[in-house]
Amino acid sequence: MSDPLFEKLAIIGPGLIGSSIARAARARGAVHQIVATARSPQTRKRVAELGIADKVTDTNAEAVEGADLVIVCVPVGVCGAVAKEISLHLKPSATVSDVGSVKGSVVRDMGAHLPSNVHFVPAHPVAGTEHSGPDAGFAELFDNRWCILTPPEGTDQKAVDRLAAFWRLLGAKVEVMSPEHHDIVLAITSHIPHLIAYNIVGTAADVEQVTQYEVIKFSAGGFRDFTRIAASDPVMWRDVFLNNKEAVLEMLGRFSEDLAALQRMIRWDDGDALEKLFSRTRAIRRSIIEAGQDTEAPDFGRPHGHDD
Ligand code: NAP
Repeated sequence: MSDPLFEKLAIIGPGLIGSSIARAARARGAVHQIVATARSPQTRKRVAELGIADKVTDTNAEAVEGADLVIVCVPVGVCGAVAKEISLHLKPSATVSDVGSVKGSVVRDMGAHLPSNVHFVPAHPVAGTEHSGPDAGFAELFDNRWCILTPPEGTDQKAVDRLAAFWRLLGAKVEVMSPEHHDIVLAITSHIPHLIAYNIVGTAADVEQVTQYEVIKFSAGGFRDFTRIAASDPVMWRDVFLNNKEAVLEMLGRFSEDLAALQRMIRWDDGDALEKLFSRTRAIRRSIIEAGQDTEAPDFGRPHGHDD
């Protein structure tokens, strides 16, 4: 095991992602000490029972005292409020990061409150399941998954490199990009797919000619995979759409145009065009498998709870 990269790690919001970081950091020896805190007494109690942190504090301010690395793992809509709360309690030269699925709004909201004597390096581990809370986390969640860092201009390169090394030690591959580019890429690769899943599951619930019993009974026809994605945390995803509005609406516009084109192909019996499109999409699926970004059990169905 290598030397710890950070002495003390503070996790604010040890849910699926935060508790997975704590578990992986301990398993891989990335830090010496882990402190965690959550909003509710129930989660704090559960985190203490699980033993995934060395110490559980009652407040965010207490958790960050003396921490060399602070990772905020709460829904993106409250990242700014948390940054405000901790700002006066941060250790000078500490690294402050997050795991939010949207980066532009987090850089804006957290950046406004953080003091200039800390290194702010926002991050997004592109890994997850549809489960939430500290019991859902596991140490292997980030293995072979990408973690995107979006440091604001002028961030100390050493701090970026150190956080990149931390994520690599946790099993992830690291890429650096601007927050704006991140939000466009993730709009099409993650946010729109979730929106489609939420929409189709909602539509199926409203179709009068098909009973709920039939929807569930015949779900293996494709619907089942959407229901897994549509079971993702409602608060987290509400915040994602409200905070990545521009990119999501732009991609949704393109999606709607393409959907209209598909409608036309079906209406006009254009089998050639349909087959051509489906062959192109099949090739994309093959490239994802070749790139090692899918396995027997994909992210949204990966087992959970089998931590270190
Ligand atoms: P989660 O399992 O629901 O955990 C969220 C944590 O945040 C909990 O500890 C919760 O505390 C705390 N929290 C919730 N609302 C809060 C508030 N208003 N103030 C302070 N703390 C609050 O969520 P998650 O899936 O780990 O997601 C956390 C972050 O990771 C989000 O920003 C999300 O965008 C990002 N992310 C998620 C995934 C994914 O697939 N799930 C993947 C990559 C990144 P209590 O339990 O006490 O309420």
